Amino acid sequence: MRGLTPAEKLLQSLGITSPNEIDVEAIAWDAGAEVRFAELDSCEARIIGYGDRAIITVDQRSIPTRKRFSVAHELGHWKFHRGRSFVCRKEDIGNQARGPADPERVADAYAADLLLPGYLFAPLASKTKRATFEAVDNIRAEFQTSRTATALRMVDYGPEPAMLICHSPQRRIWFKRGRYVPDRWFPRDELDAESPAFEVLHGRADRTPRSLVGADAWFDRRGADQFEVFEQTVRTASGGSLTLLTFKSAEMLD
Ligand SMILES: [Zn+2]
Repeated sequence: MRGLTPAEKLLQSLGITSPNEIDVEAIAWDAGAEVRFAELDSCEARIIGYGDRAIITVDQRSIPTRKRFSVAHELGHWKFHRGRSFVCRKEDIGNQARGPADPERVADAYAADLLLPGYLFAPLASKTKRATFEAVDNIRAEFQTSRTATALRMVDYGPEPAMLICHSPQRRIWFKRGRYVPDRWFPRDELDAESPAFEVLHGRADRTPRSLVGADAWFDRRGADQFEVFEQTVRTASGGSLTLLTFKSAEMLD
């Protein structure tokens, strides 16, 4: 059992026991930060601190799940980078392609823990039998979070060993392994044309059903053709694809 993260400790200190109680504006207020919404042209969100008080401003044109994530991201800067002001562009918030020590990723990790705390997420995830996008969508409706942020949590806490992989039409952008998936499973840079995911990225499908494919469609490691994995893919708002791979073979996880 892992310990509680700073965001989870904060939620517990506030007595939060269900997803619908995670009111980010109220949590911000409690932390000394006032949240405002305005049209921002040069960034998606920003925080300006004065001593123990701060003002967080979020672009009012963002969709609700994104606004929540942006407020939580700025609270991450307030927690870990107090004394500095941050102007966060669209590509700074929720960008998995950055390194883990990058202040933007530190703020993202805090946001993920605040909006999708393990102690509330894990019990819901364990009730689902499979790590699918249908399960992700059911859970994210409770937490009011994006599909990507919720799917990342599903990889951490879901019912099956899984990996989440994001592609642009040109190449793989990032991936995340669940904790039971060994490092030797490193996904290919490009999508295999035989994979159902290809139809989402380059064809007309918005989503594929979960289906069993040869693991060599995803991994070019020797011996990958001996195994099968479940894959399911959805199109992202930016025209890329997001794939959940689920590992069925115990041998792959050894
Ligand atoms: Zn930021």
